[in-house]
Amino acid sequence: MIQQKMEKGLIVNSKKYFSNDIFNGFSGDQLQEEMRRFQETLLLPQLRYCYQSSDFYRKRFDGVGAKPEDIRTLEALRNLPIFMTKEDERQSVLESLERHNHPFGTHLCARVEDIYLTGTTSGTTGMPTFTYTFTKNDMDLISPGLAHRFAFNGVGRGDRILFIFPLGIYATTMTLWGLRILKALPIDIDARAGSELMLKYADLTKPNYMFCTPSLAEYLIQKAPLIIGKDVGDLKLKGLMLTGEIGASIPELKRKLEEAYGCRVYDYWAPAGHVIGISCDADDYFGMHGTSPDLCTSYEDLVDPHSKKPVPIEDGAVGEMVITSLKREAVPLIKYAYGDTVQIFTKPCPNCGFPGKRIKIIGRSDDMLVIKGVNVYPAAIKEVVSSFVPKVTGEMRIVLGQPPPRVIPPLKIKVEQGMEMNAQGLKGLADQIIQTIHDRLRISPLIEWVGPGSLEKSTRKTPVFEKTYETS
Ligand SMILES: [Zn+2]
Repeated sequence: MIQQKMEKGLIVNSKKYFSNDIFNGFSGDQLQEEMRRFQETLLLPQLRYCYQSSDFYRKRFDGVGAKPEDIRTLEALRNLPIFMTKEDERQSVLESLERHNHPFGTHLCARVEDIYLTGTTSGTTGMPTFTYTFTKNDMDLISPGLAHRFAFNGVGRGDRILFIFPLGIYATTMTLWGLRILKALPIDIDARAGSELMLKYADLTKPNYMFCTPSLAEYLIQKAPLIIGKDVGDLKLKGLMLTGEIGASIPELKRKLEEAYGCRVYDYWAPAGHVIGISCDADDYFGMHGTSPDLCTSYEDLVDPHSKKPVPIEDGAVGEMVITSLKREAVPLIKYAYGDTVQIFTKPCPNCGFPGKRIKIIGRSDDMLVIKGVNVYPAAIKEVVSSFVPKVTGEMRIVLGQPPPRVIPPLKIKVEQGMEMNAQGLKGLADQIIQTIHDRLRISPLIEWVGPGSLEKSTRKTPVFEKTYETS
């Protein structure tokens, strides 16, 4: 029975299955053992398919002296070297443009004419890669997963969803397939339309959920009274679903948004249609719950961001997530270290009892700084600074005088002071913030105060660094 549910991509996907069905009689450990066995049944067929269908993967296997038949267990997969990074993926795209006149990469395993949906990420630098490329079978497989994590938090038939992201060729578009499966109605507005149009449509269409980036949700708090003469709380949303950058996991930001909107804030994630997860209904944050472990092995495969050596999977472990697809046709990913560092939780969720694995995004591996041998992520610094709201606005930048990751101490951060703060108060406040950062992260930064509102706000992804060195 458990296997049938997994094959439909429905594992742990809604409260119904969660409480009444699939987990009856399974404890966390038993369930994880079942999942491992199930993933291993899908692994070898996927690896064989990639080896037979793509030069890229054949070369990668041959390059490390392995055959798909050697990789029958998750343990063997974990010990396999990384096959692809973002840069390798770009190279693969350049090669396929040159050799085959398409941008899907030489790791494309399906025929070009069978591609049904394609998408790329929006906010990153460098040449776009079409990692979100799917056949019809791929979409049929992942759409229930994309859907049911939202059902996990109550989204369903009749819900109207204001869905604000860059649309069309972008990654977020795939989520619309999931929402329609739930018989919810997405009202999709391109994020480039501007806040005036977004808020006017919010006022007109009376949505009960809003999906957007944390930056945009925060920005609209101030804009709403000016544009529609109402507070965002008057929209009476049932939930705010955030993705695209770290947000709901920062306690102060979660609290600020929940107070302003008068509803629960969740974050969700599905890089390249894998690792599908969502946070649960709680005042505190317990990570994104991995609701579709039948689609990839990412919750079982972490590496050190620098050495790319395997990190043991245990409760609280931190590492860069490695994607290996299961049952994917168009552009399956094998041992893809795509650059997000996460913390993994293997114990059942203390809030809702969810027995699968959970993750918290720590930051981009590229953003990791090394200060006197200590690994520091900007998100961790932002979390500390934000805990001092309203004495600070929560907005900040890390000033880098040379290319990361290595920083010559002290690390310099610009922090926006709160509206009510005076010069006398700032000195003591800086000391408190530095002390807290030192206690939690073992570094002592230098704080430069800037006026409230002086750091530029973005409705997309707010930059974390201010680079004072020459960038090419
Ligand atoms: Zn939970």
